[in-house]
Amino acid sequence: MTDWQALDQTYIMPTVKRYPIAIAHAEGNYLIDTEGNRYLDLFTGLAVNILGHSHPRIMQALNEQGHKFLHISNLFLNPPAIRLAERLIQHTFGRGKIYFCNSGAEATEAAIKLIHKWAARERNGKDGIVVVKNSFHGRTLGALRLTRQPSVYQDFPQPAFPVYEVEINNANELREICRAYHPAAVLVEPILGSGGVVSLSKEFLQAIADTCAEENMLFCIDEIQTGIGRTGTLFAYQHFALQPDVILFAKGVGGGLPLGGIIVGEKAADVFQPGDHGTTFAPSPLSAALGNAVLDVLLNEGQLEKGRQTADELWNQLYRLQEKYPGVISHIDGKGMMLGIRTTRSAEEIADLRHGFLKQGILVNVTAKTVIRLLPPLTLTSEEIQFFIQTLETYIREKFV
Ligand SMILES: *Cc1c(COP(=O)(O)O)cnc(C)c1O
Repeated sequence: MTDWQALDQTYIMPTVKRYPIAIAHAEGNYLIDTEGNRYLDLFTGLAVNILGHSHPRIMQALNEQGHKFLHISNLFLNPPAIRLAERLIQHTFGRGKIYFCNSGAEATEAAIKLIHKWAARERNGKDGIVVVKNSFHGRTLGALRLTRQPSVYQDFPQPAFPVYEVEINNANELREICRAYHPAAVLVEPILGSGGVVSLSKEFLQAIADTCAEENMLFCIDEIQTGIGRTGTLFAYQHFALQPDVILFAKGVGGGLPLGGIIVGEKAADVFQPGDHGTTFAPSPLSAALGNAVLDVLLNEGQLEKGRQTADELWNQLYRLQEKYPGVISHIDGKGMMLGIRTTRSAEEIADLRHGFLKQGILVNVTAKTVIRLLPPLTLTSEEIQFFIQTLETYIREKFV
């Protein structure tokens, strides 16, 4: 048998600690390894496979577009991408424009350039971006400047544009910084993802929206992880009565293929002109075709609503466990199919738990060292919820109480 782990360690840089399983194929909500073991996938390729694996609508779009053309460059009109842009705008701002790229970090880069050019026009060049402590906006150098996790940025050069870091949910600090330094934009994740699944409060989000309106700033929201149905609405900001100026998206939008971008409202939709920005691959017609299939399933076939109900069931079961074991489960944060379970246990114990779950055939993710992060597919079933909850309860009873 091929030792995939040894080959991986020989030939691929160890930028991530990988699970020691080689994937042979995937179907529905399961990954199957080369030894035939099945794993319930509760983090969907890090918030990408919102409909699980091999969804029939996605496979159909893959076949249809795959047979037409894979790549044409952005020098031609690209019907699947135009259709996707139209639908994303119809379901968000109603009016505005989209710039497409291939990934989340690239969406952040596009936002940085857009903010800079907008500030040159609207604010006499006074730029600068406010972000939240512990935020994650990507790992390319520009995006890394906005990612405020020291372990992620500390070994690398920091581009010189001004960035201001505020404490999460501290509206006073945010207002003070905006009034004192006149930054051009605020960029926030509605729920910190890799920062440990921490929700921004309604009041904080409202303070950002109000301050951006009062101070003529761009309110940019990083929905790369929270978007495309993850929290129960197409984008997480839609749970609140507020409207950002720029939405960053990626992860789930390409149905499993690389695609990202920014949706820009009327305040800045005309900033990018020919030559200002671009990339060879995006928008991939194939990714865009899959993106249209994802929207068909979420919006036209009721999967967004079904996923919301399934997520409620999962939350209720977890709250029940928390009531039963308050000395173990201390807090559950997130929304819809984005959950962070905080326990009273150490990083080592949570690493063991992750390993224990792997042996039981369940894939969970751990972020911020001790937070069990679940990013399940919207297609999760009640039986799968039971399987996870029973496994968690057994683990808690055997190891933690
Ligand atoms: C994953 C993520 C990114 C970066 O996306 P990549 O596609 O990995 O570059 C940026 N912001 C948030 C909130 C993310 O979760």
